[in-house]
Amino acid sequence: MPSPFSGGCLCGTIRYECSAEPIMVANCHCRDCQRASGSAFATNLVVPVESVSLTTASPTYHDTLADRGHTMSRGFCPTCGARLMLKNTAYPDILVIHASSLDDPSWVRVGMDIYTASAQPWDFLDPQRRHFPHMPER
Ligand SMILES: [Zn+2]
Ligand SMILES: [Zn+2]
Repeated sequence: MPSPFSGGCLCGTIRYECSAEPIMVANCHCRDCQRASGSAFATNLVVPVESVSLTTASPTYHDTLADRGHTMSRGFCPTCGARLMLKNTAYPDILVIHASSLDDPSWVRVGMDIYTASAQPWDFLDPQRRHFPHMPER
């Protein structure tokens, strides 16, 4: 997977660069990702938090309580609404980047499926990948 890589929102207000390769890539089938993404899952790239720099403006964050009591903050562009990234207070050393925001998402290789317990019956789960009903242990 290439690094550095870059991305941004739909309207171009928010741009970022990431200097590291993703630690892992997962399709998340939780209900929150479904509601926020507008689809059956979100494809999430986990990267070290210090490897990401915002080059223009900062996203607006919407906080939700996650199932283990920590806070998930979903970053989106306040102008166009596109989702960019996600922070989790349980793992302050990492940042999650949504594959949809990459300038070139074609190189992404999904390694696993998580929160498959809430996957939709019309969703396709690739049997070649590892499946976790909830969040896998780190
Ligand atoms: Zn935007
Ligand atoms: Zn999710």
